[in-house]
Amino acid sequence: ATPTALMVGTGRGAQLGILIRGPEVLESTRRVDTVVLDKTGTVTTGRMTLQKVYAAEGVPEEDVLRLAGAVEHASEHPVARAVAAGAEERLGTLPPVERFRNEPGKGVHGRVAGHDVQVGRIHDGPLPEALRAAKEAAEDEGHTAVVVVRDGTAVGVLTVADAVKDTSAEAVRRLRALGLTPVLLTGDNTRVARSVAATVGIAPDQVIAEVLPQDKVDVVRRLQREGRTVAMVGDGVNDAAALATADLGLAMGTGTDAAIEASDLTLVRGDLRVAADAIRLSRRTLATIK
Ligand code: ADP
Ligand code: MG
Repeated sequence: ATPTALMVGTGRGAQLGILIRGPEVLESTRRVDTVVLDKTGTVTTGRMTLQKVYAAEGVPEEDVLRLAGAVEHASEHPVARAVAAGAEERLGTLPPVERFRNEPGKGVHGRVAGHDVQVGRIHDGPLPEALRAAKEAAEDEGHTAVVVVRDGTAVGVLTVADAVKDTSAEAVRRLRALGLTPVLLTGDNTRVARSVAATVGIAPDQVIAEVLPQDKVDVVRRLQREGRTVAMVGDGVNDAAALATADLGLAMGTGTDAAIEASDLTLVRGDLRVAADAIRLSRRTLATIK
């Protein structure tokens, strides 16, 4: 390999908005056959907004929103920000929360106005029929739905929308055109994940959902054990271990420092189409060297 050819490759990368950790990175892209895409913040914008509030019979919607907003106010999660902002916008100042506790990949707990409150996918008991129907309808549209639990009883469902980036479908097409298999990976619900996958052109059997943050890395390892060479694209703190373990880790430049530090390539503008360009560029650079 001539160092000059590698340098040309990395210089061209910079022009395209790709930061390459080192020239040796290009070598790992050659055999990549599978590209695992994180959903939130990678395929979607990750900027969520509160959509709807559903309350159980006899419970005022305002109460559901106030309790949930108060607990979520203490969390940085994109779902939490959407719920807290939506609650403040509609109700004004929210009550304080005590004994706040975050359960990564699941949701939050806290005490508000004398009640034990949980928000997220923590509750595993049955939901009242109307809430279940509202939740599933929202999920089929690709919206995330979280359950609000008060003193052990599900009292409501909140739905939150995150837009699919308008570049994601084209990115998936370009990855396929390179002969790569795109896989969607998320901690979110399976219905939501399948809906987003359908929007961008990923097959339902290539969707891996409801994966806890610490288990994302195991998904990458499993694919590798199956003989695949895996590129992973992610943005979150949760994605760092998976990015480091993947044969090629690509971070969204718009993402967290943890993700960027764990990766081999950074897509400076957070444009997923550039992931395909990066892989094509490295293959071409290597071909030039031979
Ligand atoms: P992703 O893999 O899409 O980035 P996470 O692993 O962070 O998602 O979260 C997975 C799911 O856990 C969310 O879709 C949501 O249902 C639930 N969840 C996580 N944190 C919170 C929170 N602060 N409030 C409500 N729900 C949450
Ligand atoms: Mg993410």
